[in-house]
Amino acid sequence: MLDDAPFNHTAHATLLDLFSEFGKIGAVQSGGISRLAASPEDGLARDSLCDWFRHHDFEILVDEIGNIFGVLDLALGDPTQHFFCGSHLDSQPDGGKFDGALGVVCACVCGLVIKDAVAKGEIDPFYRYYVVACWTGEEGARFQPSLIGSSVFVGLMPLEIALARQDHEGVSLRHALSQIDYLGTAQVPAPGHYLEVHIEQGAKLETANIPIGIVSSCWGAKKILMEVSGRPDHTGPTPMEDRQDALLAASHLVVQANEISHHSTSTLYSSVGRIDVSPNSPNTIADKVQLWIEFRSNDGEALLEAEHQFRHSFDGIAKSTGCELRVASSEDRAVVEFDKHGIANVEDVLSKSNIPYLHMTTIAGHDAIRLQSVCPSTLLFVPSRNGISHSPDEFTSDDDITAGFDAMLHAVSRLISAVACDDLQPSSCETKN
Ligand SMILES: [Zn+2]
Repeated sequence: MLDDAPFNHTAHATLLDLFSEFGKIGAVQSGGISRLAASPEDGLARDSLCDWFRHHDFEILVDEIGNIFGVLDLALGDPTQHFFCGSHLDSQPDGGKFDGALGVVCACVCGLVIKDAVAKGEIDPFYRYYVVACWTGEEGARFQPSLIGSSVFVGLMPLEIALARQDHEGVSLRHALSQIDYLGTAQVPAPGHYLEVHIEQGAKLETANIPIGIVSSCWGAKKILMEVSGRPDHTGPTPMEDRQDALLAASHLVVQANEISHHSTSTLYSSVGRIDVSPNSPNTIADKVQLWIEFRSNDGEALLEAEHQFRHSFDGIAKSTGCELRVASSEDRAVVEFDKHGIANVEDVLSKSNIPYLHMTTIAGHDAIRLQSVCPSTLLFVPSRNGISHSPDEFTSDDDITAGFDAMLHAVSRLISAVACDDLQPSSCETKN
């Protein structure tokens, strides 16, 4: 029985040391890091990870989109089964040290503790292999979209399209990955379960003074790219009634998106984060505007209703402004529910170990969301001070890191021992420990 097994706490020192090493790679003056996907700094972080893998007997695999996998043989369990843990090493420009890297480091050190526990007979694993995954381009800062590596891995994005994505300078992801020598060819075994530890990027855990959050679902999103066409004219002499002002029509859309959120009966967020105006001259009435609009909610019906209302407003806006409104593209991200069986197992093992936890949902995207489409996945949050992330001020204390790591160890030791189960109802699955 491993539920109450005291883990070897020298692991905490290893964890904190390794984490501080990654915090130095790509460090910038502000105190944060800049480690854009497939940049030289990302390359150095990847090299450090691979050195660590080599040093600790992990086999290294790099796939065609540059995802890195460190495979650890537990020497017991079903040799066809692989348990994955991981996160990402890329960051936002001038971002924080904790977003992503903490999950990778936790996954690394967790593997060592699990292997040790298996060797001592404290864990009888169902999965023979423990795999640390480091996903390419999670942040979407240099190459869009975000979650690019995990999306390709699970088959939600074609490899060739992903490799052809270009950064602001026109450099393709394929070229950038080959420059840092992480354009691989490895065929990677399928994950049986995926678990990720990530900073919360919100302040709920800190406020409640609880060390770990179990994420049950991820909000869905609807992202709409609009094109508005009017007519260019002099901003001076053109009579008001003759104007076809595309920026005016676009402004109505901005307000409309906001109103829809405020009037929704569900929790619905909306924003217009980017507008491109043409010709963007102070003396010419805008004739072309592109707007990037998004709605987010944990209620799929509310998202459908928001899109319906948004589209319903087009006729009135077109009529009042004389402009043409067109949806250039519309992307749906469904609400994702994490594996209930995994959640039930983690709840159970944390309760038995007297580790308090909070149920949470995530609004931000994470690689675990992509993995849930191919295997049961578990996402655990640790506290973020003041809820700040994507900033040099991002911070999680050593105590919160080690408490989160202990919770992760309990969760992994339970899940890695779980008998595979087709029916994900918690009551009909057994655990083998
Ligand atoms: Zn992240």
